Amino acid sequence: MKYVTYLKYLGVASAVLYLSACGGNEEEQTESENDVQEESSGEENQNSGDAESTDDAEASEEAPLVTEEDIYNEESILALANKSNFLGEEYVPADMIPVNVPVVFDNPETNQLREPAANALMDLFAEAESEGYTLYARSGYRSYNTQVGLYNNYVANHGQEEADRFSAQPGSSEHQTGLAMDVTSESVNLELSEAFGETDEGTWVRENAHRFGFIIRYPDGYEDITGYMYEPWHLRYLGEEVASDVYESGLTYEEYIKESGIEINEE
Ligand SMILES: [Zn+2]
Repeated sequence: MKYVTYLKYLGVASAVLYLSACGGNEEEQTESENDVQEESSGEENQNSGDAESTDDAEASEEAPLVTEEDIYNEESILALANKSNFLGEEYVPADMIPVNVPVVFDNPETNQLREPAANALMDLFAEAESEGYTLYARSGYRSYNTQVGLYNNYVANHGQEEADRFSAQPGSSEHQTGLAMDVTSESVNLELSEAFGETDEGTWVRENAHRFGFIIRYPDGYEDITGYMYEPWHLRYLGEEVASDVYESGLTYEEYIKESGIEINEE
C-alpha cells in the first residue's frame, strides 16, 4: 500500500524537472510545485476508501508540517540529506553543544548535536533510564571532512557498491546536519548492529523516540526508498510535532515529504 503510494508520487515527480537541492532553484519551482500539490491532493481524496487512506485525506486538508523551503534549507531541523540531496561541503551547524549522556567514544566532535536535538536526546535518555533502559550515544555530528575519511576507508575495505549501502558519501550524511545520533546499548556490546532493534532498549527507542522529536530514519525493508539498510540505531531529530506525525504515518521521511506534496530530487 505504501509502496503503491510511493510509485504514484514517483509518477508525479517525473512530470517535473527537478534539479539538485544544492542548486538554489527553489523559487523557480514554486509554480509547478503548487500545481502538483493540488493534483496529488485530489487523487488522495478520490482514493479514500479504506482506513489507511482516510488518514491521508484528513492530512491533506491541513497545511503540511514540512515545506519545500524547510527540506532544502540545510539550517532547518527538517532539512533533507540523502543520496540525492547533498549538504554543502562548508556547512557546519552554528548551534551545536555536547550531549551530556553516556557515550561510547571520547570524541568531542561526534559527541555533539545541534542544541534542540541535544536537549531532546538528553530527555529521551533520561526517560529511558527511568524505565530501566540504559542507552549510549555512539556517533552524532560528523563534519564533511570526517565523513570523507570514513567513506574512503569503507570503500577501500568493502568496495564502493557495498560501502554505499551503509555509509554516506560526503555531503549526503545526516550526521553532518548535527541532527542525527547513533544510539546503542550494552546488550549489543555498544555496537551498531541490527540486533539492537530486537533488544529491550531498541524496542523502547522505536516506540518512544517520536515523543522526543526523533524518528528511526532507516526502518527495516525500505532500503529502496531511503537508500540505506535497516539502522535501528540511527535517530534523526525533526522536532516533536513532525517526528510524531511521521511516526503515526508509518512512512519513511522521503515518503512523508512526498505525501506533503513536495517533489524531491531522486536522481
Ligand atoms: Zn547514523
